[in-house]
Amino acid sequence: MKTFGCVCGNRLHFENNRCLVCERSLGFLPGLGVLTALEPAASGNWTALADGGLYRQCANYSRYNVCNWMVPAQENNAFCVSCRLNRVIPNLSEGNNLTLWARIETAKRRLLYTLLQLGLPVVDRSSDPQRGLAFKFMEDPEQDNEFSNAVTPQRQVITGHSTGIITINIMEAEPSERERMRERMNERYRTLLGHFRHEIGHYYWELLVRRGTWLDEFHALFGDEQADYHSALGRYYEQGPPPDWQQDYVSAYASAHPWEDWAESWAHYLHMTDTLETAQDYGFRMGADTGERFEDLVSDWAYLGVALNALNRSMGLEDAYPFVLSGRALEKLRFVHQVVQGQCGAAFA
Ligand SMILES: [Zn+2]
Ligand SMILES: [Zn+2]
Ligand SMILES: [Zn+2]
Repeated sequence: MKTFGCVCGNRLHFENNRCLVCERSLGFLPGLGVLTALEPAASGNWTALADGGLYRQCANYSRYNVCNWMVPAQENNAFCVSCRLNRVIPNLSEGNNLTLWARIETAKRRLLYTLLQLGLPVVDRSSDPQRGLAFKFMEDPEQDNEFSNAVTPQRQVITGHSTGIITINIMEAEPSERERMRERMNERYRTLLGHFRHEIGHYYWELLVRRGTWLDEFHALFGDEQADYHSALGRYYEQGPPPDWQQDYVSAYASAHPWEDWAESWAHYLHMTDTLETAQDYGFRMGADTGERFEDLVSDWAYLGVALNALNRSMGLEDAYPFVLSGRALEKLRFVHQVVQGQCGAAFA
């Protein structure tokens, strides 16, 4: 993630909606990939100082302040390219759902930023009902009554992906709840952004690998995805990963099934590319300093990942990147890199 500059000279961050120095309103222009200062224009529109264009705030910006993205004034859609992907949002009249939703949208925009940066196709479901993307942010239904077993509430909304629709249980936006789930699942890393990056991996597998020309190579690296998915997951949750999983997989969960292996590898690739961009923007100097070659990406990441963990330990925090990448895991990441580089924009051409 880059930082951006206000016309007043202040440094702006991706989530900002107002410059703290000159107090101008801000908006992100997804078409340009920049956060810009805005000047009010006629009929509720705004002039973006980055390109002089006329824009409107996304409806989720003007109504709820859970978004800071803009829509070109001539476009009909009330929502920005991120918010128009929503099919279900939480019931905002309940509890702190507005707060939870705002956190979810923030993580989702970070995801979208990286997808757009990488040139990956982002198409909403109404434009393409077969191959488009949609999100559902849902909460578990109420327990039957106050005497139901509240100690182990049953999750009924399963975070996951199914044919282009990504569902997120909104309790993932509640840190204490997410941490409880992380421990229960025996995971080393669980974040909202991580969920988005993992689930979108399933989406792009269908779009780019299954429908593309990569299936043979996928099978050679990840195995046969036709293996029964539900029994594979059942086995994983019962027995855990194989003892030597680190030799083959980026994470323990990746060992559950070739689809999960792919989604975990994909998520790691997005972790790497986004974090490296952030480091570069803040002037971290790493060895390779070039963009496109996978070897450079990996050597920069090897350095930065260790530095990140060391910085966190200096603050008394857990490791930011609690993973070690084996040679085999890196081969899988190289494959993700090739798919991303090779298929950008091509899926909808
Ligand atoms: Zn400013
Ligand atoms: Zn929006
Ligand atoms: Zn998955």
